[in-house]
Amino acid sequence: MERVAILGSGMAGWGAAHRLHQEGVPSITYDKNGYHGGHTASFKHASGFIFDEGPHVSFTKHKRLQKLFAESVKEKYEVIHARPNNYWKGHWIKHPAICNLSGLPTDLVVNCLRDFIGAQHDQENNIERKPIDNYADWLIASYGKTFAETFPMEYGFKYHTTTADNMSTAWLGPRLYRAKLEEVLVGALSPETPDVHYVDYVRYPSYDGFVSYLDLLPKQTQINLGHQLVRLDPAAKELHFANGVVVGYQAVISSVPLTELVPMIVGAPPDVVEAAKKLACTNCVMVNLGLNRSDLSQGQWTYFYDRDICFTRLSFPHMFSSHTVPPGCGSIQAEVYFSEKYRPMKGSPEDYVAPVIADLKRCGVLREDDEILHTNVHVSHYAQIIFDLERADALATVHAYLDDIGVAYCGRYGDWLYIWTDEAFISGENAAQKTLERMRVSKSR
Ligand SMILES: Cc1cc2nc3c(=O)[nH]c(=O)nc-3n(C[C@H](O)[C@H](O)[C@H](O)COP(=O)(O)OP(=O)(O)OC[C@H]3O[C@@H](n4cnc5c(N)ncnc54)[C@H](O)[C@@H]3O)c2cc1C
Repeated sequence: MERVAILGSGMAGWGAAHRLHQEGVPSITYDKNGYHGGHTASFKHASGFIFDEGPHVSFTKHKRLQKLFAESVKEKYEVIHARPNNYWKGHWIKHPAICNLSGLPTDLVVNCLRDFIGAQHDQENNIERKPIDNYADWLIASYGKTFAETFPMEYGFKYHTTTADNMSTAWLGPRLYRAKLEEVLVGALSPETPDVHYVDYVRYPSYDGFVSYLDLLPKQTQINLGHQLVRLDPAAKELHFANGVVVGYQAVISSVPLTELVPMIVGAPPDVVEAAKKLACTNCVMVNLGLNRSDLSQGQWTYFYDRDICFTRLSFPHMFSSHTVPPGCGSIQAEVYFSEKYRPMKGSPEDYVAPVIADLKRCGVLREDDEILHTNVHVSHYAQIIFDLERADALATVHAYLDDIGVAYCGRYGDWLYIWTDEAFISGENAAQKTLERMRVSKSR
């Protein structure tokens, strides 16, 4: 019986293992970490607080994945009505901001409305004042200049670490709400607005953090932890790991970030290596705080627009499941973004704890008398994919090469896409399907 090697035990690796398992094809999964889950890992601290590697909730609308994840956690999960909000210069704004402008300074609201109406008029009459060459053009054409420049361009700069005119629109999908004029007008005149966020309900495991959604993974594949791939030889069909282990493979599916995978491949052509170097992603410093009270926020997560506030997004894990904190406590996860290509991190990750706490006090989330019961810092070296203008060509070069040498790629950092956990899982399934077909073809020869 042939065994397929899967590199990475995150959602994409699980998707691949799951698809192979369905076909009765055994697989071995290798991961460099001493735990499985990749970006969906959760860390339970001695203080009693649980933090995920970045805030994770399941947005999936796929019934079969909802069922699979529910089965993984033995039906013990929370269904949460999503109430994200925004913070801008002392104002707390319901999400999405474009539909909830009431209460903001009058001149700003007037300018937002004037420009939004102008942009809508142009769209309805097919008037193209400027071709849409990048994300900035798209924002201005969709929302008008004032709103675009005050909100999404500012947020995007903090989150993606580069400016909107250096980004394509290929990542957007349903992410930014396309508001109707009536919705914008109602939101400018009234604080009472309907919920129009593209995410309405989210799910989260009741116990042990997001990684519990992967509890079925070890039942569907053999997992070898502590195996960091350092060399992939496509001619010899060998995988070499940092611990000295060398294994042969009949087929391999990789969710390892392309920027790391390509330089490890024996014989990778220089143009492919160069292309991989152009792929950019953000790094995220997560400052995790445990507090002695739970009434910290109205929204389960908040977007921050002001450049002088160091974090881009806050989330409150105890609002996903109260079992992530000791009784009566609350928790905050602050995300501070960097990237090697555009905003290299200065100093050490721990240096961000004090500024995060100071900014939390400045915007009123923390009070002077709050007791901080837990503090830790976690760094994610691969966070959000940056859709800069170099990405598309570089990615096409890398993917064409991997197709040529028969290495199936998947997941957020294999597809190099801005995808969620369910999409990463499906990407893994698709890579496994492709692999099964290749194996069938080579057998029939
Ligand atoms: C801050 C943040 C918040 C997010 N929030 C959400 C959310 O709320 N909801 C949602 O659905 N999605 C969310 N996502 C996206 C989600 O995390 C990803 O889509 C998904 O986890 C990607 O899974 P993956 O398997 O593709 O990658 P990964 O989880 O990164 O898996 C890759 C695996 O490969 C392993 N690996 C890497 N290099 C090697 C090597 N050399 N040798 C062996 N193994 C290696 C890694 O250890 C890892 O386990 C968020 C992401 C971030 C960064």
